[in-house]
Amino acid sequence: MGDVTATAGPQPRARVQAMKEYHPPLGCRDALRLDFNENTIACSPAVREVLSQISAGDLTRYPERETVEAQVAQHLRVTPEQVLLTNGVDEAIHVLFQTFLDSGDELLLPVPTYTMYEVYASATDARIVTVQAGDDLVFPFKALLDGISPRTKVIALANPNSPSGSVITREQIITIAQRAPHAVILVDEAYFHFYGETAIDLLNSIPNLVVARTFSKAYGLAGLRVGVLAGSAEQMKWMRRVISPYSVNSVALACIPAALNDTDYLNWYVGEVLAARKEFESAIDAAGLRRWSSQANFVLAYIGSEHRDFVRRMNSAGVLVRDRSNDPGCDGCVRVTIGTREQMRLAAEVLKEVI
Ligand code: PMP
Repeated sequence: MGDVTATAGPQPRARVQAMKEYHPPLGCRDALRLDFNENTIACSPAVREVLSQISAGDLTRYPERETVEAQVAQHLRVTPEQVLLTNGVDEAIHVLFQTFLDSGDELLLPVPTYTMYEVYASATDARIVTVQAGDDLVFPFKALLDGISPRTKVIALANPNSPSGSVITREQIITIAQRAPHAVILVDEAYFHFYGETAIDLLNSIPNLVVARTFSKAYGLAGLRVGVLAGSAEQMKWMRRVISPYSVNSVALACIPAALNDTDYLNWYVGEVLAARKEFESAIDAAGLRRWSSQANFVLAYIGSEHRDFVRRMNSAGVLVRDRSNDPGCDGCVRVTIGTREQMRLAAEVLKEVI
């Protein structure tokens, strides 16, 4: 494993040769996993019921995405032509970049942000232009507007953002889309349920806006790999040319309607996380650590030069947290996923001992 310097045989494109393999950290499975921003409990029982009834016939046939796309469209109050289901938002990002980013184009990114934007953009021939947030990690709105050029082709905005948990206002999204009518504005709402504000209702008035959602976070289905892209029917048409027709598998498709219908479960889980976030933020404050205000299911805290040791000690006490020190502007920072109140009370106890 690791990076290969090929000495013989066909060579990939120069951009691919310059890339590094991306290996997500492998968490030990029996610890409290607060390092991937997953749902920390389980998906809806209604989804598990569907899973228990998957038949051999369901598996022998190729998946049919379009029926479920229509149901997701109804849920989002857009037309089926405006929706594309993907193998997680990661595939959505990949497909969007492959569709729109050409040589000479620029991808504009406020940083720090979700790491995979840079990874997928590195596999295109576009230039990556980053705009650094200040020390408060608030969305660098003015700098981003200044960063828009005639070559800007895609602007990727995670809202709420990771790892900071900061948000972008509706007015800011509208202004960005108006200032860059020649670019696709991707608003990645992976953490929407913990925030509650969406740009989906803007899709009909802003033709260059594309919104992404995921079933990996609040719904608790990260392992199934289902994401959603919603935008104008025209933008979706281009991306349908690029995406594999079977990238969302039959098991995942069977589960989505049940996940969407079980609003009681979703509301319960989100309510639990929001209550736990408030409590855990107080625990971070009580420990004397600096933290950033978050609208997502995680909190970023400043540990300082001992960050590696801190993560190691939390992990050995059974609580996995994520070192974000390598993110631009996040030196010494650690990100903690928020689970249920019971889990976070345990995490707070461990934090008190470790700090
Ligand atoms: N967008 C953001 C901002 C994320 O943090 C993540 C996952 N950590 C994703 C997208 C990926 O979501 P998915 O599991 O649907 O690929």
